[in-house]
Amino acid sequence: MKKTRSLPVQKNQTLKVTIEDLTHDGFGVAKIAGYPIFIENTLPTEKAEILVIKVGKKFGYGKLQKLLEKSPDRVETTEQNLIRTGIAPLHHLNYSAQLVFKQKQVKKVMTKIAHQPDVKILSTLGMEKPWAYRNKAQIPVRQIDGQLTTGFFRRNSHDLISLENFFIQDPKIDEAIVKVRDILQKYHVQAYNEAEHTGNLRHIIVRRAHYTGEMMIVLVTRKAKIFPEQEIAADIKEAVPEVVSIMQNIQPLKTNVILGTEMKVLYGKETIEDHLLGKTYQIAASAFYQVNTRQAEVLYQTAIDFAELKPTDIVWDVYCGIGTIGLSLADHVKEVYGVEIVSAAVENARKNAQLNQIENAWFEAGKAEEVLPKWEAAGRKADVIIVDPPRKGLAASLIETLTQVSSRKIVYISCNPATFARDCELLVKAGYQVEKIQPVDMFPQTAHVELVGLLIKK
Ligand code: SAH
Repeated sequence: MKKTRSLPVQKNQTLKVTIEDLTHDGFGVAKIAGYPIFIENTLPTEKAEILVIKVGKKFGYGKLQKLLEKSPDRVETTEQNLIRTGIAPLHHLNYSAQLVFKQKQVKKVMTKIAHQPDVKILSTLGMEKPWAYRNKAQIPVRQIDGQLTTGFFRRNSHDLISLENFFIQDPKIDEAIVKVRDILQKYHVQAYNEAEHTGNLRHIIVRRAHYTGEMMIVLVTRKAKIFPEQEIAADIKEAVPEVVSIMQNIQPLKTNVILGTEMKVLYGKETIEDHLLGKTYQIAASAFYQVNTRQAEVLYQTAIDFAELKPTDIVWDVYCGIGTIGLSLADHVKEVYGVEIVSAAVENARKNAQLNQIENAWFEAGKAEEVLPKWEAAGRKADVIIVDPPRKGLAASLIETLTQVSSRKIVYISCNPATFARDCELLVKAGYQVEKIQPVDMFPQTAHVELVGLLIKK
């Protein structure tokens, strides 16, 4: 006979629950007879009345109706939109508790996924002022009541919530978004309509260099034309004088991928310039650049300290972006080799080496998992390998190559502890030991965790 297991909760039921935990994306967790329910804007130890809004086989979702008992770590907030949109989904938790939460997240994955419960995990390095830190914004644009509207999507949806103050962004970026939006409105530029795949303006992207103040605006459009191009560019330059670059990116596809392949200059330069750890960098629109400049310096310094570099060292900077990590340490070592998939970023990296009079760093465009085996086959050695992959972590084949190169140290910078832990398990099997992990808070008020891990060949 087939067993049918009924779930202990039903949709639309109202329940009184106690929050026991916080998920990696910042939802409170309550359990009813072992069945987990995730509830936005709730914190461990809190008691709450909730409405069950979604019931799945293994877990459900609830909506907070009434807080019955508050956590001592709760910060009062009126900015519910920052939670709803996921812009600052942890800002109702006080900052020191956020830092502890992040350290615990790393502990959790190192225990459950990497099976390394005893690894040393240092206290999270946080910011003194954990707001207004982002140097980049990618803001979706929609037509609401005939008006161009900027804001952010409700979590797990594409419903735009209108917002002008994003709190975690450089306030000059918030101001620029509104000015650019109003200029485009004046020229009757139509917003993109996702459902019908009509209209034109999809995103406004703004980058502002933390140290130099140089700004870049990227208008992402569906169509090749944005009219009247010259007037729009001139008006933006006048309204936001720090702008040194206005680009148009064309994304004609039905996709969530923000940038298309075609990039056009509407005004000024194709890059902005910023500083990191005393070096100068040019940054193209399509190149990755750490969004929290001050904490990027803390992150890089941690990686450099962990590497304990020697003047004879050969260092590989894998997933190098515009070369920032390799160039920050090039003065202390013999040679640096970088690899990166975005060719505009590699061009920036080469140019950045020149700008800083660095002559012992070389950069190659390509996929790390394809380029590294070539380096290994050519007999190229590495004393220290630094990897800084995107969220999905390292390809299994890349881990194999790394272990063949057999460098003494691997410094692994990760923006996703779960894939970091998965990769650590493989590296440990291949003879490395995880020495220590330093979480660095790159994204205050959010649940994102960044870390630097040091692995040493036994
Ligand atoms: N280390 C840089 C960039 C880190 S972000 C910094 O700190 O600024 C990760 C980088 O990996 C991005 O630049 C992305 O373009 C690049 N990337 C993504 N997949 C890749 C792959 N398969 N091979 C090489 N680079 C890749």
